Amino acid sequence: MNAGVVTVSYIAASVLFILSLGGLAHQESARRGNLYGMMGMAIAVLFTFANPKLGSVGLLIPVMLVGGGLGAFVAARVKMTAMPQLVAGFHSFVGLAAVLEGIANYLDPSVQHASRAEMFIHETEIAVGVFIGAITFTGSLVAFGKLQGLIKSKPLALPGRHGMNFTAALLCIYLSSLFVGHPGAHTHLMPLLLMTVIACGLGAHLVLSIGGADMPVVVSMLNSYSGWAAAATGFMLSNDVLIVVGALVGSSGAILSYIMCRAMGRSFISVILGGFGVEAGTAVAASGPTEQGSVTSITVEETAVLLREAKSVIIVPGFGMAVAHAQHPVYELTRFLRERGCKVRFAIHPVAGRMPGHMNVLLAEAKVPYDIVLEMDEINPDFPSTDVAIVLGANDTVNSGAQDDPSSPIYGMPVVECWKAGTVIVSKRSMATGYSGVDNPLFYKDNARMLFGDARKTVEAVFVAISAL
Ligand code: NDP
Repeated sequence: MNAGVVTVSYIAASVLFILSLGGLAHQESARRGNLYGMMGMAIAVLFTFANPKLGSVGLLIPVMLVGGGLGAFVAARVKMTAMPQLVAGFHSFVGLAAVLEGIANYLDPSVQHASRAEMFIHETEIAVGVFIGAITFTGSLVAFGKLQGLIKSKPLALPGRHGMNFTAALLCIYLSSLFVGHPGAHTHLMPLLLMTVIACGLGAHLVLSIGGADMPVVVSMLNSYSGWAAAATGFMLSNDVLIVVGALVGSSGAILSYIMCRAMGRSFISVILGGFGVEAGTAVAASGPTEQGSVTSITVEETAVLLREAKSVIIVPGFGMAVAHAQHPVYELTRFLRERGCKVRFAIHPVAGRMPGHMNVLLAEAKVPYDIVLEMDEINPDFPSTDVAIVLGANDTVNSGAQDDPSSPIYGMPVVECWKAGTVIVSKRSMATGYSGVDNPLFYKDNARMLFGDARKTVEAVFVAISAL
């Protein structure tokens, strides 16, 4: 097929990817955004087959079938709660692909350069692609391990770790200078391979140094890195669609990471540099819960009575709601209360759950109307005038110590101020800590009531009890 047709199709795919990102910015248009993205990807893959520069189609088809089949198999089976691990795993493949593609491209004898300058540029692209790809590969593997609980979420604080990272980065630059732009191309493989190994170590160490509470930003940062690795590969292969898609993923991931850092009261630079400045008070997993006084429990029946009297209720969902699959019964309860004239809304913390937008996806799945689902900043001022707040499987995101305890490892992180409501009911199974491992003073407050049990069973029981009143 004509190369012009391929270029036009790549432009169409790029436009669809941009529309896709625009669609994903709002819940109402997210489905359409996904559809645009799928169409863009279908066009990009289809017309890649038509690319005159493509060599062995016979090899590509079985590889795509195996890869696509495995991807579909894993994605169809993954639990909603394990989605971040899956995303981290997929990022690692993008990184690995960039590394392998870079090395293969360097060794490819058919790649000829018209001038020394052209060779310099091309090999710089290889160096950048392999460097970012290697960091993304091992960083994502470690993130996968931490999210899956295979590796402890506590940050690894090796003495002199920032110096080690800095030296590793300098070594990578030096090794790159040994193979970039030298005549007798394809013969300086050793520095390239050494640089790959050091960058792999750097990626793993950077993520190992980051504490549990900062993991959401890490996942989103690695998403960004995978985009830049793809963009560098696009430059190396002179593939326009890869450059555009890589740049879109890279920049949107970086913007999301920045927004999440702001939402968590973290320094963006500190997080991406592997906990740089963590001694100055950034969140790290604490050694465990500490006793803070006694807690007051509440029964299902007492909860039902409180809710029947309430004129306004705010529900604060967290990771526990996802684990318990409580979104459907909670919407049943919401509908019931709303039909009786109670004002019910949901408060969403930007990092509630285990991935950005986790709670929004679950509530949308349960058909909760978008207009009663509000962001933390929008709804925080309303708690003092709210009768009952229900914390449903959330913990770190409602940790009052983040505001009143300067010694708390998560001091300074913006949180949902549910304790300002008349009564706050906390639905969880035990006194266990959340993801960051930090105890929560909220549970010991005078107006807090602990409703122990699985979130789904508890909400179902409350619904039965309130319906019978
Ligand atoms: P947390 O992880 O802080 O707390 C969840 C709580 O849910 C636990 O304390 C647990 O207590 C409870 N729980 C678990 N299972 C159930 C169940 N079946 N029924 C009822 N309760 C249950 O959740 P948050 O959403 O408040 O905070 C998210 C945390 O995860 C933050 O620290 C964030 O940084 C981190 N994170 C976020 C990511 C993101 O992108 N959003 C990605 C990775 C990490 P118990 O065991 O007693 O029931």
